[in-house]
Order: sequence, then structure tokens, then C-alpha cells
Amino acid sequence: MLTPATLAPEDWNAIRAIVPDPEPALGRCPAGPRRGGAYPVAETRLVGNERRYLAECVDTNWISSRGPFVTRFERAFAPEAGCEYAVACANGTVALHLALAALGLGPGDEVIVPAFTMIATANAVRYTGAEPVLVDAEPVHGNIDPDRVEAAITPRTRAIVAVHIYGHPAAMRRLRAIADARGLALVEDAAEAHGAELDGARVGGLGRAGTFSFYANKIVTSGEGGMVTTSDAALERVLRRLRDHAFHPERHFWHEYLGFNYRMTNLQAAVGLAQTERLGEIVEHRRRLRALYDERLRAIPGLELPGEDEGARSVFWMYAIRIGADFGASRDGLRRRLAARGIETRTFFVPIHIQPVYFDRFRGRRFPVAESLCRHGLYLPTSEALEERDVDWICGEIADIHRRAAPAGAAAS
Ligand SMILES: *Cc1c(COP(=O)(O)O)cnc(C)c1O
Repeated sequence: MLTPATLAPEDWNAIRAIVPDPEPALGRCPAGPRRGGAYPVAETRLVGNERRYLAECVDTNWISSRGPFVTRFERAFAPEAGCEYAVACANGTVALHLALAALGLGPGDEVIVPAFTMIATANAVRYTGAEPVLVDAEPVHGNIDPDRVEAAITPRTRAIVAVHIYGHPAAMRRLRAIADARGLALVEDAAEAHGAELDGARVGGLGRAGTFSFYANKIVTSGEGGMVTTSDAALERVLRRLRDHAFHPERHFWHEYLGFNYRMTNLQAAVGLAQTERLGEIVEHRRRLRALYDERLRAIPGLELPGEDEGARSVFWMYAIRIGADFGASRDGLRRRLAARGIETRTFFVPIHIQPVYFDRFRGRRFPVAESLCRHGLYLPTSEALEERDVDWICGEIADIHRRAAPAGAAAS
């Protein structure tokens, strides 16, 4: 039977300062707009056509992936990703696997991925049999550092996966130049960045293929769901085949590829379509939320607020900040105190190279920017359900924790 990867005590000691404390228990707000309740870090808001479209699925008896909403969702989503085609699938992880498999990646190939990302980015590479090669983050947005990509390329490198971390586009122009010069496929993991733009062009259409997640905490959701976007017609055909067991179009039970069942149901697509219809509104709200948080947190020492590059339009999937020594309390101390008062937060990703499941593969490698992001990063509740008075309350609590905290240098928690 499978046993978990665990770290030897000396390995754990070498990295324990990087790894955030365990999740604190979430209490209740003692006062404020949600007195007696709490602020989860993400909330879903289903206020468009979700109910109507779902009722249509039930009324017409179409609930499997053969129902019409799957195609309607794909057609509505493709232009939102600046693409000709969109192929719906079961979630964001299998969207990545589908894209990499359709590109023909397999054992013996290397794929460059960020050290600072959600685990699925690296795992999807492994599912194909290829090897993930890690590149550190740039310190401003936490995206893959284009200055370090070139050095990671070997004769086995076949692709680069860029992730638009927390909704801010990665340096796609630079990455595309590198990929084109070396004949590599450039794939965007846009799971956190629906609707984001770079120089007026949507993410998802800036490389050979883009992938999205519609998990409940993403910018738009279908409960669970994913999408691969591309403008390459040949690639789209392979994606569709692989998604559905690679059934042959003429002889049904005849398989020329190793396919998967990565289909999305009509029910999921009904919700995803309704959400996509409101994508513009949702992004506007996220951007306004960012401005509201910025205004209220700017004056507090020791907080580094999220930036936005010129030419980039971030969707601020999560309002992600970093806690420096000047704040007084440590990042984990701040989290604990906020949680006790009903405000949930989340720490940044734990880098791939120190994950138990990847530790031996990357033993001895260090990615200092990714590690620093992991040590200091925190994201605050970010959702369409939040209004100005909620942001007022949350920021008031943060200011209060800062005021009560020991002066910088004395903070030990
Ligand atoms: C959420 C996420 C995924 C995985 O999406 P699922 O739908 O949960 O499988 C992949 N990459 C990134 C960067 C994500 O944030």
C-alpha cells in the first residue's frame, strides 16, 4: 500500500522556519458587520442564471457531459481567454494534464515550472511521465522569474508552464521570446486569473495553450471544473479526443491514443456558463476590493501590498500581502489573532521543492524568493460577497493587532 512521504528530522529542521504554522481555528467576529459569524477567505456568489440553467438541465434530463451547456460554456469562455477554442474538463489539474499530454510530453522530457505555485502545476507534469524543473519566482508578484528560465533549459526541455499567481499575469512577453527562440511550448496555468490581461490581451491566449480551474474559490466557478484554451485547431482536436477516452470518431470502441475520462457534466457547465456571463462584473468587484484594501492598509507599517505592472490588468484573485518585521506581530501571529476574531486568512503556497512528496527530487536545492514568499505571505478574505464596510472592519482589526503588537524586533511569536 502507498505510504506518505515524510521528512527525516534533519530535513524537517532544515526547512521548518519556512513552513507556516498549522491552520488556526476560526472563531467568530465579536462585533462588526458579521457579528457572531465569520469571514471565510473565499465565498461563492451564485446570483446570475445559475438556478435557471440548472433547472433547464433537470427539466430536459440532460445531466451528463453530452448536454448542450458544455458547448455553450466552451463557446462563451473561449473569447474570455482570447482564444478560438475552449475544451471543458473536470478540473484545473486535469486541464493541465490534458494540455501537456496533448502536446506529446512524456518520459524523458523536462518541463519548466515555477517553484512557487500550487502543487497541481508540478503534479500534472509528473502525470505525463515528464520531469518538472523548477525556476524561482520574481519578488514583485511571485510569478516565474523570466531571468532564471534560460539557465534551467537543457536539451530535454520541451515546455514552460507559467502560472499567473494570485491573478497577476506572468512576464509572458519575455517567456514567449525564450520559448520561441528555443522551440519550446509555452503553457499558461491561468487557474487564478480568469479575465486578466497583458497589453490588452487576455491570459489563456498568450501561449500555445492555457488552462483554467473553476473550483469554488476561483474567480468564476462551476463547483468543480476546468478548461483548456487554445487557438491551435489541431491541438484542440487532440484535447477533445483525450478528454473522452480517445473514442474514435468513426469506430466508437477504437482507441489510437491513451485517453482519459476528464469530461465536465452539463450541470457543471450550466453553472460555469452563468458565472462566465458575469465575469466582467466579478473582475471589476475584485479590482475595487483591492483599492479598498489598499486605502486602508497603506498607512500600516510593515505591510507590503499587491502591485500591478504597467500594461498588466490583474484580477486580484486573492488580496495577497506580505508581513514584514515593522508590522510588529509575525505573519503567523497576525493570522492567529485574526482567526480568533472570525477572519480567515491563508498563507502563500509552500514551494514545490520543500514539499514532502518532492523533497528527495529537489534535495539540496534552494529557491530563496519562493521561500521568502512562503514565510511572509498572507492573503485576506477576497470575494464578491465583501462590501466596503466589511473591508473597513477587517482592516480595522489588522490595524488594532499592529497597535497592540510588541515593537518591531521584539516580536517572537
Ligand atoms: C486551483 C489551481 C489549480 C488546480 O485547479 P483544480 O480545479 O483545483 O484542480 C492549478 N493551478 C493553480 C495555480 C491553481 O490555483
